[in-house]
Parts: sequence; C-alpha cells; structure tokens
Amino acid sequence: MITAHLPSGYVLGRLWPAAPLVLPAALIGGVLPDFDLIWFYLVDDRAVHHHRYWVHVPAFWAMVAGISLPLVALLARRYLLAAAAFFAALILHVSLDTISGDIMWQWPWSDRFTHLVTIPARWDNWVLNFVLHWVFALELVVWALAIFLYRRRP
Ligand SMILES: [Zn+2]
Repeated sequence: MITAHLPSGYVLGRLWPAAPLVLPAALIGGVLPDFDLIWFYLVDDRAVHHHRYWVHVPAFWAMVAGISLPLVALLARRYLLAAAAFFAALILHVSLDTISGDIMWQWPWSDRFTHLVTIPARWDNWVLNFVLHWVFALELVVWALAIFLYRRRP
C-alpha cells in the first residue's frame, strides 16, 4: 500500500465507537509504521527491507498492545477506545501492506515474509509497477470510502 494508509486510518477512526481521541489515534496508528522509511533511507541506506523493522512486525505490536491496553484500562480508562483504535490501525496498516508487500506475520517463529499478490516488475520505476497494477484500485477504494465518510461527517 502506497497512498491509502492515512485514509484507511480515517475510515477506521470514523467507524470505531466514538470516544475521546479515537480519530487522531487511528490516524497516527494508520501511518506510524511507515515512519521507518526515515531510518530506511537516511540511516540504513536501504540495506534492509523496511518491512523487517520492528514497526512492521505484527507480533511486536501485539506484545505492546498486550502490555499497554491493560495499563490504559487500569489507569486511563477514558482513553481505552482510543488506545484500541490505535493498535487496530497499526494492524490494519500491516494487513494492507500484506496485500502486495511483504510482512513477517510468522515472526518470532519465522522471519519469512508473507504477501498476497505479487506485482511483476514491468517498469523500471517501482511506483509505476504498483500504480498500474489492479491492486492499486484497492487504494482508490479506501480513498473513496474515506472521502465519502469525510463528506458525511457530523
Ligand atoms: Zn507500511
């Protein structure tokens, strides 16, 4: 997924039960894993696929959620729905990345990547390969749903 993480977070936040900070939490959770691109390009010099970084590993977020959600429930129950939306948006992010990207769903038992659709390299520019593949239509659907919900906001 290239462009639809922010709108997917918006859709999730809008469909989530209303509570304080749910929408910002879903928006942040929807895009947070891709902030690893800063490290990928500026520090790691693209040496390791950025989907191998811990922010793209579902089990990592499951562990963080398993620790932090009970704490939020205990200490700041008012924000529990927002915290849950944040983690749901993170899992939505890596789920959407799994469609045509590689995600380590089996970690820690295996560091093998999983993806659903292989996009053939028909063009020199990798962005063109994605944008001209039918998978990109899914991104447009997410955008359309987000725009629809935005226009129907209360
Ligand atoms: Zn990503």
